[in-house]
Amino acid sequence: MILRSARLGIAATLAVCGLADLTIAGTSAKAGPAARGASLPLAGKVVGIDPGHNGRNYTDPGYIDHLIWNGREEEACDTTGTETAGGYTEAQFNFNVAEYLAGDLRAEGATVVLTRTTNDGVGPCVTQRSELINRAHANVAIDIHADGGPANGRGFAVLEPVADGPNDRVIGASKAFGRVLLARYHELTGMPLSNYDGTGGISYRDNLAGLNLTTVPKVLIECGNMRNSTDAALLVRPSFQRLAARAFAQAITSYLS
Ligand SMILES: [Zn+2]
Repeated sequence: MILRSARLGIAATLAVCGLADLTIAGTSAKAGPAARGASLPLAGKVVGIDPGHNGRNYTDPGYIDHLIWNGREEEACDTTGTETAGGYTEAQFNFNVAEYLAGDLRAEGATVVLTRTTNDGVGPCVTQRSELINRAHANVAIDIHADGGPANGRGFAVLEPVADGPNDRVIGASKAFGRVLLARYHELTGMPLSNYDGTGGISYRDNLAGLNLTTVPKVLIECGNMRNSTDAALLVRPSFQRLAARAFAQAITSYLS
């Protein structure tokens, strides 16, 4: 594994929001900091959010293309991601949804760990993203992406881990979270299940570091197909991005409750 700590320091900032700024009406004078926020549904929970790619990955192919070990085979450190025909990037979409989601989760009392906190950086590698979330002992985590599928293919897919050693203990939990996530996202956004990836909106993947190396319950969601004009028209809308985040927050709260 190749760690480039200078980059990690910039791009992979561990963003943690504590509960110190949350106050609940009616908290008694005896209640200490630990009691504040205890009635929020995600109090005491840690959620990992990995917005795929990064807005300036294209500027440093030497770094982005270098090979890492994803637990089963070699894989590029990261990729640039896809974009719509109109040039709206997947990296931007992923980042926007992640930001909305982080806000929703913090409002419910969660501690949020983001693998990147801007869309103006390079990386980090997919292995480092996994490590950040593992080290935080997240209760659940989500990798946010949008696909670059065939132009005539529509819909979203939930990508789930396949047991390979490091992730053995979280396969069942990831499946359970994936089921909730699929239902909430479909219901709230109206995005159809993918007609080209997986079966019934679920795809099992053993070639992604984010899923191979996870030691916390985690799935990756391809929120739609950016290369399909119908999906793309939805994905670029701030209102859709907001709704997608809301669906993720509801699924996470439901799974953790
Ligand atoms: Zn992607």
